[in-house]
Amino acid sequence: MVKQTAGRDALGNFAPKFAQLNDDVLFGEVWSREDKLSLRDRSMITVTTLVASGMVDSSFQYHLESAKKNGITKTEIAELLTHAAFYAGWPKAWAAFRMAVQVWKEDEAEAGAPEGSEREAGREAHEQSMIFPIGQPNDGFAQYFSGQSYLAPVSVKQVGISNVTFEPGCRNNWHVHYAKSGGGQILICTAGRGYYQEWGKEAVEMRPGDVVNIPEGVKHWHGAAPDRWFSHLAVEVPGKEGSSEWLEPVSEEDYGKLR
Ligand code: MN
Repeated sequence: MVKQTAGRDALGNFAPKFAQLNDDVLFGEVWSREDKLSLRDRSMITVTTLVASGMVDSSFQYHLESAKKNGITKTEIAELLTHAAFYAGWPKAWAAFRMAVQVWKEDEAEAGAPEGSEREAGREAHEQSMIFPIGQPNDGFAQYFSGQSYLAPVSVKQVGISNVTFEPGCRNNWHVHYAKSGGGQILICTAGRGYYQEWGKEAVEMRPGDVVNIPEGVKHWHGAAPDRWFSHLAVEVPGKEGSSEWLEPVSEEDYGKLR
């Protein structure tokens, strides 16, 4: 039997009857009639129906995750959405694909740098989740990064601020921001999920809105989680004779512990 508490969690006080119908009837009875139609088949019907109605919100995300749990593979969801596109509408399928790419990416054994159309779709979905642009490939600093990063200047006067985006698995080398006085760096996560780590300490996870203050002279790195795009604003704290020293890459062993 399918257990569901989303109705009571979200609407138990506001609409107790709706919550009860959602949890006990829709999920508890209809979804649970597995002898009549399997969970896998029910997921296919639900995903298709939601795509057809253009419902690609958080409930759609939930149903995609259920579909994956109920055994629908990446190949099958791609085929389902391609088929549905002709009947439900091309833009609806596009919107659905953007979410499906994220849901099915996570279960790939070897997370890491995406390629081709998956990279394009992932980048587009990530950019849509953020108020700042991704900008251009960060070629100027590429030698100090493992993986592809992007740079969008946000402020070039008074205080330098850039939005830096890391594709899954991308991170910068260990480095230090020096200054005679003042200096250092502030990171503000704008989208996705990533990490900040100081030498000799545990890595700290960063999610949208999280802020990290990096003092002058502290060896550290920052970058994406192995399976997630990540962006942060990098604020250059004004200082006297500021400079950065770039050191060795973060080892696969250290980065691998984050999975
Ligand atoms: Mn830094």
